[in-house]
Amino acid sequence: MSVIKCNCKRCKIYLNDSKIYYSVYCGCEDCRQAAEWGHYKGGPIPEKLQKLIYVRSDIKKIEGKKYMHAYQLRDDARSTRIYCTKCYSIIGIDHPNYKDNVFMLIPQLCKTNLDLSIKPTAAIFMKDYPHQDISMIDDDVLFMKDFKDEGIVKKFDTLMSPLRPEYKKPKGISFIQLIEDVEGVTILNLHQGQKDF
Ligand SMILES: [Zn+2]
Ligand SMILES: [Zn+2]
Repeated sequence: MSVIKCNCKRCKIYLNDSKIYYSVYCGCEDCRQAAEWGHYKGGPIPEKLQKLIYVRSDIKKIEGKKYMHAYQLRDDARSTRIYCTKCYSIIGIDHPNYKDNVFMLIPQLCKTNLDLSIKPTAAIFMKDYPHQDISMIDDDVLFMKDFKDEGIVKKFDTLMSPLRPEYKKPKGISFIQLIEDVEGVTILNLHQGQKDF
């Protein structure tokens, strides 16, 4: 059975669907800040350029819910991340754009037995990527500085549309239901791009 675990193995999310629907590299400040904050709290070391994967928001079983807690970076934040409060792995991320149809995870920041061989389709928000090294991005990956160039956004949508899962009601509980279940979201009040915690 497909499972997402935190590094200390107290938290486990079992999935009804083992498919990874799509993957992107994300250079955005918020993905980086959330990972670095987790690392500051004792969590895993983030990769330079983070690889994100998307799975259906359909959870079969949860273990260790008492160690899970939801955090947002700021009070106007849109993403909500569930961390393990013991090891500060991030075990899942919601964004309103996902419409609770999928949720996101960063394999480097947790443990999973999902087949991670999927290749990223695009590298997004690369204008915020602070490093020179882009050697991890293959030539056939769509390189996007931001979402401002209409032509490139169109290309992105075309590439993503066959990969986007159709909306289906989950058989189990959804990721947003899990967020509601873990009682209260802590707002970290970090400034955008702030690196010292
Ligand atoms: Zn843990
Ligand atoms: Zn990001």
